[in-house]
Amino acid sequence: MPPRQPISKFDTHEVTNQPPPLPEFNWFEADPILKQALQREGAGWAAEKVAAFGKLLGTEHTAELALAANRFPPELRTFDRFGRRMDEVEYHPAYHELMRLAKTHEVHSIPWTTSRPGGHVAHMALEYLLVQADAGVCCPMTMTYASVAALAREPTLASEWTPRILSPDYDQRFLPPQEKTGVTIGMAMTEKQGGSDVRANTTSARPLGNTGEYELTGHKWFCSAPMSDAFLTLAQTASGLGCFLVPRWRPDDTRNSFHIQRLKDKLGDRSNASAEIEYRSTWAKLIGEEGQGVRVIIDMVHHTRLDTALAAAGLMRQAILQAVHHATHRTAFQKLLSEHPLMRSVLADLVVEWVAATMLAARVARSFDQSAGNATEALFSRLAVAIAKYWINKRLPGFVCEALECHGGSGYVEESIMPRLYRQAPLNGIWEGSGNVICLDLLRTIRREPAAVETLLAEAETARGGDRRLDHALDKLRTGIHDLSSSDIHARRLAELIAIVLQGSLLVKYGPAPVAEAFCASRLENDWCRTYGTLPANIAFDEIINLARVSS
Ligand SMILES: Cc1cc2nc3c(=O)[nH]c(=O)nc-3n(C[C@H](O)[C@H](O)[C@H](O)COP(=O)(O)OP(=O)(O)OC[C@H]3O[C@@H](n4cnc5c(N)ncnc54)[C@H](O)[C@@H]3O)c2cc1C
Repeated sequence: MPPRQPISKFDTHEVTNQPPPLPEFNWFEADPILKQALQREGAGWAAEKVAAFGKLLGTEHTAELALAANRFPPELRTFDRFGRRMDEVEYHPAYHELMRLAKTHEVHSIPWTTSRPGGHVAHMALEYLLVQADAGVCCPMTMTYASVAALAREPTLASEWTPRILSPDYDQRFLPPQEKTGVTIGMAMTEKQGGSDVRANTTSARPLGNTGEYELTGHKWFCSAPMSDAFLTLAQTASGLGCFLVPRWRPDDTRNSFHIQRLKDKLGDRSNASAEIEYRSTWAKLIGEEGQGVRVIIDMVHHTRLDTALAAAGLMRQAILQAVHHATHRTAFQKLLSEHPLMRSVLADLVVEWVAATMLAARVARSFDQSAGNATEALFSRLAVAIAKYWINKRLPGFVCEALECHGGSGYVEESIMPRLYRQAPLNGIWEGSGNVICLDLLRTIRREPAAVETLLAEAETARGGDRRLDHALDKLRTGIHDLSSSDIHARRLAELIAIVLQGSLLVKYGPAPVAEAFCASRLENDWCRTYGTLPANIAFDEIINLARVSS
C-alpha cells in the first residue's frame, strides 16, 4: 500500500484506495515474454543492449518526455516573418530527445549494422519497447529502418545515403544531408484519390536527361515525419510508376521544392507530424527502373509491416501492465480488483492475447533474419508478416479499451497513459495496408504460390501432438484452406484462422504452459466468446496475470 499522507487541517478528506504510481523499472527485465523471445528467436546476444534501452525507457524522465511531446504537438512554420516559404515543422524539444534516445540505441539500424544473425529480432525488441514510451517516434524510426531495403536496389544512391541513415547520430537541424552525420527517411505514397490503390497516383515525373534525375509535380495526401531528410515516393513516368528518392535539399545545396500545405489534426500519434505536401518541379532520383516503382517500394513496405505488427504487441504490453498494476492496488467491495473472479478473467485473457501477439511478432522477425538465402523463410516472412499485422492490430483496439475499463474512470483521464494508447490503437491497422487490403494480398499470394501455404502449415505442424485442440484447428485449416481461398469474401476468415493456429503452435511448443492452456481452451474452442474476460473457470489465473505484474 502507498504511504499514508498526513492530513492537514485544510483537507476535507484522506486520499485512500488509489494505486501508487508505477515505479521506475527496466521494461525489458520485467518482461519475461520478450526476454524469452529474444533468446529463442536468435538475438540473445542483444540482451544487454536491449536491457540498457529498457532501463532508460522505464524512467520517470522518459515518461515526462513522452507526455510533453504529445501535449505540445508539432507546429507548421509555412513562412518566415518576411513572407519567404520555410516549410518547416517545429517540434517540442522532448520529441527530439526521444528521437535521439531511439537513434542512439540503434532502433533503426541494428539489423543492417550487426554482423550477427538475429538483427531483425533485436530490432523487434527495441521497437516493441520504444512504442510503449511514445508511438510517435516509432514512425520515423520504422521508415528510416525500412528504407535501407529499398535503397539497396540502387548501389550508388545507397552508398551515398546508407552510412548516414545507419548512423546513431540524431541531427534535428534542417541542413543539406552532407552537412549532417545522421539522417532520417520518410515515405510518401498516399494521394487524395487513392492510398491502397497506389497505381492511381497522379504525381508525374519528368526525366532530366539520362541521368536518373527527374522533376516531380503533384501532391501526397499523407506524408508523416515531414522533416525527414529524404522520402521514398511514387510518381508516374512514361513507363508507369517509378520509385524516387526526394531529398529536402537538392544536390547543389539549395532547398528542394517540398511544400508542406498543412499538418493533419490526428486522432492519435500526436507527437509525430503528418503532412499534406506538394511537389512543384521537385528534384528526385529514380530508384530501380521506370515502371518498377511498386516492386521497389514494396521492399520498404515489407519491413514497415513488421513494425506495424510488433508495435501492436508493444502497445498491448503497456496497456496490460497498467491494468494489472491498477487492479492490484484498487479495492472495490472489500476486495482488491485483482481478487474478483471476473476481473481475474479479464486480466488473464488480456495477458494471453499479449503473450500470443508478442511471440508471433518475434517469430516473424526471425523469418526476416533468415530470409536471405532461404526461400522457405522468405516465403514464410511474406505471408506471416501480413497475418501478424492484420490479426494483432484487429485485436488491439478492443484490448486497449478493456485495459482502460479495468481502471474505471481514471483510465479515461489524460494524466494516465490510457487515452494515448487508446487513440494510437487503430493506426497500425490502417497504414502499410489496411485490414482488407492485407487480407486480399495474402489471398493473392496463396493463389499464386500454393507452396506458400505449405510454409505456414509446416510451421504450425511442428507443434502437432502437443494439444488436441490445436491439432483440430490445424486439420480445420488444412481442409478448409482451399474453400477459404476460393473467394475474396473469405479472406478475413482465412487470415484469422491462420493467425490463431500460428499463435497456438508457438504457445504449445514454447509455453508458458498456463497461457498455452488458456489460449487453446478459448481461441481454439468452438464456443470461444467474443469479448475479453470469457476464459473457462479452470485456468491458472494467478500464474498468467503474474506475467504482467510489476512489483512495487
Ligand atoms: C496518421 C497517418 C499517417 C500516415 N502517414 C503516411 C505516410 O507517411 N506516407 C504515406 O504514404 N501514407 C501515410 N498514411 C496513409 C495510409 O497509408 C493510408 O491511409 C492507407 O494506406 C489507406 O489508404 P486510403 O486512406 O487512401 O484508404 P483507401 O485506400 O480508400 O481504403 C479505405 C478502406 O477501404 C478498404 N479497401 C481498399 N481497397 C479494397 C478492396 N479492394 N476491397 C475491400 N476493401 C478495400 C481499405 O482496407 C480501407 O479500409 C498515413 C495515414 C495515417 C492515418
